[in-house]
Amino acid sequence: MKILIINSGSSSIKYKLFDMPKEENSIHGVIEHIGEKGSKIQDHYAGLKLVLGKINNVDAVGHRVVHGAEKFKKPTLINASVIRKIKQCSCLAPLHNPANLAGIIACKKLLPGIRQVAVFDTAFHQTLPDYAYIYGLPYEYYKRFGIRKYGFHGTSHEYVAHEAARRLNKPMDKLKIITCHLGNGCSIAAVQNGRSVDTSMGFTPLEGLIMGTRCGDIDPALVTYIMQKKGIDIHEMENVLNKASGLKGISGVSNDMRILEKRAGSMDGRSELAIKIFIYRIKKYIGAYTAIMAGCDCLVFTGGIGENQARVRNEIYKGVFSHLNKKPAVLVIPTNEELMIARKAYQLIKRHPAIKD
Ligand code: ADP
Repeated sequence: MKILIINSGSSSIKYKLFDMPKEENSIHGVIEHIGEKGSKIQDHYAGLKLVLGKINNVDAVGHRVVHGAEKFKKPTLINASVIRKIKQCSCLAPLHNPANLAGIIACKKLLPGIRQVAVFDTAFHQTLPDYAYIYGLPYEYYKRFGIRKYGFHGTSHEYVAHEAARRLNKPMDKLKIITCHLGNGCSIAAVQNGRSVDTSMGFTPLEGLIMGTRCGDIDPALVTYIMQKKGIDIHEMENVLNKASGLKGISGVSNDMRILEKRAGSMDGRSELAIKIFIYRIKKYIGAYTAIMAGCDCLVFTGGIGENQARVRNEIYKGVFSHLNKKPAVLVIPTNEELMIARKAYQLIKRHPAIKD
């Protein structure tokens, strides 16, 4: 079965075609500059037409959808009611869900009758217990506004946790795994017996670790304090937290770990400081997640930094586990969210050969 995986962003469509269940990937690529000034590709419909021009045959489509809130705990066959619900989740991910939907709607027009599956970034973390996902805010905010920890990068955490169990030749439901997805966005998850029990990103992807340009955990009182001190409005403040903070904000140089690594040491103290803070925060989370799971059998690194930065991995591992008698296995596993989406879409379609629209 040929399954086309679509990751539709606001101005791009990333695509990958898998032959399932062989898991062979023949065609992949990205269409960029969709809807941008001067671009020949006006919208997602035109972008997807270009993608389909490169592909002979599609049996089903798997879509990455960023936010499924509490409505979607599993991969879901897309029909009109699912599209409505994904739209309803857009207020929680205004930059992402509408772009994901644009890809879904273009596929529906261009591939009528072809089954489509939505796989949600938030779904893997829907197993968090309430004491992990409820914030210390008035409880009614959860009920009225859906304010809670959702967590993101779920498909990546799930993929590398499965792959870790496979490589260790142990069943997932017997393992305590900590997965560190360290890319431009960074998050960490505690995966106990195959279920996510806690994760560092929260209501939005801003919470948790220090990231390329995002601040991660800060004192919430700083938000209004900085707004007053700098005389800036909500939009500017959001920009500071999301785009001008993290590795970039601390170093004053770059959000790119490769550049910081080159400049670190005596030459540039602030690049060194940014790396130290980045590592320190990860160590704190690993310590906390080892405590809540009462142990850790395996530590997994993935994402551009996790896969390539040996210094970061070594300092984290030595810092947290060197004094312990029982040390966890450490694995570096390149993530493959598209393959995970293809597997889920394939499993779902096999079980539900027909859909109602
Ligand atoms: P995204 O979250 O956008 O998918 P990536 O997973 O590609 O990002 O991660 C980007 C980060 O990974 C950057 O900080 C970059 O410096 C780092 N990185 C990527 N490749 C390498 C490499 N070969 N060596 C060191 N760091 C790398």
